[in-house]
Amino acid sequence: MLLFNFRRRLLYMRKQLVLLLLLFSLSNVSALQVNQEAPLNILATTAIVGDIVKEIGGDLVDVSILIGPGVDPHDYEPSVDDGIALQNADFVFFSGGGLEERLDDTLELLEEQGNAISFLELIPEEFHIDGDGAHSHEEDDHTDEGGAHSGDDPHFWHDPVIMRFAIDEVAHVLTDLDLDRGLSNGGTYLLQGAQYTEELLELHASIEEQVNLLNETQRFLVTEHQSFSYWAQRYGFETLSLEGISTSDDAGIAEIEELASEIIEHEIQVIFTESSGTPDGIEAVMRETEARGWKIAIGGQLLSGTLDETHSTYLAMMEYNANVITSSILSPPEGVGSFEAPVHLPIAGFLLMAIIRRRTT
Ligand SMILES: [Zn+2]
Repeated sequence: MLLFNFRRRLLYMRKQLVLLLLLFSLSNVSALQVNQEAPLNILATTAIVGDIVKEIGGDLVDVSILIGPGVDPHDYEPSVDDGIALQNADFVFFSGGGLEERLDDTLELLEEQGNAISFLELIPEEFHIDGDGAHSHEEDDHTDEGGAHSGDDPHFWHDPVIMRFAIDEVAHVLTDLDLDRGLSNGGTYLLQGAQYTEELLELHASIEEQVNLLNETQRFLVTEHQSFSYWAQRYGFETLSLEGISTSDDAGIAEIEELASEIIEHEIQVIFTESSGTPDGIEAVMRETEARGWKIAIGGQLLSGTLDETHSTYLAMMEYNANVITSSILSPPEGVGSFEAPVHLPIAGFLLMAIIRRRTT
């Protein structure tokens, strides 16, 4: 990989030299060239990161995505071709915070070489949430050198407001990459970044408007894994989930029972599956609450970590999630809530018989 990188650097230096010669040969050239070369070859690990870079870079960048639609980034197994693609790119933007679990070492190496950057690290630490759902800057005892905490929740993209910090930085990174090859496109990147930030703030305002239709007691978001803490913090929700911040934290019977108890305690009526996971756990929770006399419904499938064909941009994904969450909580299917639990009656009868039998023997 290092050898490959060395070769790439040599090629890069040769390209730089050709460009310099060209500049010197033109007597009237006094300023840097603007967009005279091929677009920057950018690799983004996730479709969300890729879409944002594309918005900022426009036609000046060529963005490829490593982890495709519907694939769980926590679980993504890189191929040999992916390794080559990572090395061949002019620059790699990744989500970070341990989201791309199986690519961590490669990404870390690329970052050390100055060829990659994590989006999470572009967002100031004070906005990070740790894996337990608290502000990570409240505990400073496990800070990594890179700026992100080792236990940070990596799902920052669910808060469109903090995304603006990453947008500004991406614009600067793209500017520097172009300056390195003698091109001056900084103005375009900054302008496109600013326009996109405006769109994100409009999106935030519209989500807020929708969420405001819900009262305090309705603001619970139950998902398969803990992926919506940033969303919850921004929009005043409480999140409950079966698994932790990674989908590889398998949940067992104890977690299913605990989540069922919390759902009943808070009288939650709808819960959500996630596109990059399996519905098995959430369905088991549904059966458990039903067995205890509290009927719930699946409110829809949320896009937690990937885009899909219908919602192929970050903005579309955010709009979709907000819409699914608020509309299904506001209008849950009929029949949800408390009812006489028929399943429990035979069990109770059986237990009663067993107790009587034990007492009489
Ligand atoms: Zn996740």
